[in-house]
Amino acid sequence: MDTNVSANIKTLKVALLGAGNVGSQVARILLEDADALAARTGARLQLVGIAVRNVDAPREVNAPRELYTTDASALVRSADIVIELMGGMEPARTLILEAIEHGATVVTGNKALLAVDGPTLYEKADAAGVQLSYEAAVAGAIPILRPITDSLAGDKITRVMGIVNGTTNYILDAMDSTGAQFADALADATRLGYAEADPTADIEGHDAAAKGAILASLAFHTRFALSDVHCQGITGVTAEDIAAAKDAGYVIKLLAIAETLPNPAAGKTDDGAPALGVSVRVHPTLLPREHPLAAVRGAYNAVFVEAESAGELMFYGRGAGGTPTASAVMGDVVSAARRLVLGGPGRTDSSIEVLPVLPIEAVATRYYIGMDAADQPGVLSKISTLFAEHGVSIETMRQTVHREREETENAGPGSAELRIVTHRASEAALAATVEAIKGLDVINSVTSVLRVEGV
Ligand code: NAP
Repeated sequence: MDTNVSANIKTLKVALLGAGNVGSQVARILLEDADALAARTGARLQLVGIAVRNVDAPREVNAPRELYTTDASALVRSADIVIELMGGMEPARTLILEAIEHGATVVTGNKALLAVDGPTLYEKADAAGVQLSYEAAVAGAIPILRPITDSLAGDKITRVMGIVNGTTNYILDAMDSTGAQFADALADATRLGYAEADPTADIEGHDAAAKGAILASLAFHTRFALSDVHCQGITGVTAEDIAAAKDAGYVIKLLAIAETLPNPAAGKTDDGAPALGVSVRVHPTLLPREHPLAAVRGAYNAVFVEAESAGELMFYGRGAGGTPTASAVMGDVVSAARRLVLGGPGRTDSSIEVLPVLPIEAVATRYYIGMDAADQPGVLSKISTLFAEHGVSIETMRQTVHREREETENAGPGSAELRIVTHRASEAALAATVEAIKGLDVINSVTSVLRVEGV
């Protein structure tokens, strides 16, 4: 703690909305580290109130009783910096708008609100010349938004791939290490507190998609909404998919991917380069086990960034939790306080580009296809011919004959499991190939179609 902080420095009034998991830790840091924060920012950060629903509820932080209030609106209007950690749509949205109107700097961790109504909030903040920061909204403690907007501002980001949902990473990691089916791994995650009672937003990929929209917007200087993100969750991933991927040297992760790709509909730019669009998508993905993201275990998060000059970068850490997330919130608060001390306009997120969103059909990637086929001569050549006819080139094909499954209902006698990894192919060509495979008399079923990245 720095005890040499001048008593005459500026005081900035800080309003905290919410004292739950994250808010209580932010209050603790503001109260316990007041002198150190003053030394780092050049201003005394005075916590002037904490808005909650129940002022008498027990709290994780030992803050003076008189700081608590249920009148969030009055609190917002008295502050220089408003920290919104209530979560949900309302009253968080109205309070943030009130804070912006009042000219206060806003810090929030509310990814759900930003995903739904971010563009309105960013525009209002821009118009009012106030700063709206939300480092905590993506990947909890991991500093990822400021590296993208500041540290890499002189570079050109080409791709961002993130494990940005701890619940789904925990479930997939458990399936990978124990061989459990999805439902059992989910039940385990719920029992241990890694999944919420209603896990829909996590397992259906909606939470990762909200973060994907934020990452894409900042990386590509264009505002993308949740509706721009192609989203597929992990509920369809089976223990058999995981085992087959493992056998072939891959791990399955739920990735949020945002990348620039040539946009065939837009032709070329004035300098002859292909015009670009952006694909933003969330889906279960096969990654080679040696890829840096494959090493991200349990509920941890990581974001892998590729930029033209910097090359590959990876940011890794805790994606949730009250104290880790409070670290990200306080980073935004300190940065905002420094700016308020120095003066000058707020740093707004650049949205100078208007890159179109590309449909999932525009994406070309490698695919993993699992199928149950008859174990008889000529099957492999029939399948290879069919792939070639559709312009999809096979990289590897593995066949496992399951003698022990011969009597099972689905497999039928003499069946074999085929696993094919393709070279890069378009979504459209792959879809047509899969449809054609299903029509072959030697195929019992197509058991999985998953995308492969990081090869
Ligand atoms: P939480 O534990 O549910 O806390 C919410 C707080 O807001 C509570 O103190 C609650 O008051 C207060 N509140 C809610 N509605 C209110 C209302 N209408 N009026 C006044 N106060 C109200 O939430 P959290 O886990 O701290 O999360 C806060 C935000 O951070 C969310 O946007 C979340 O998405 C984001 N975030 C959280 C994490 C994490 O690990 N938890 C990670 C990244 C981002 P009472 O206590 O009186 O009920």
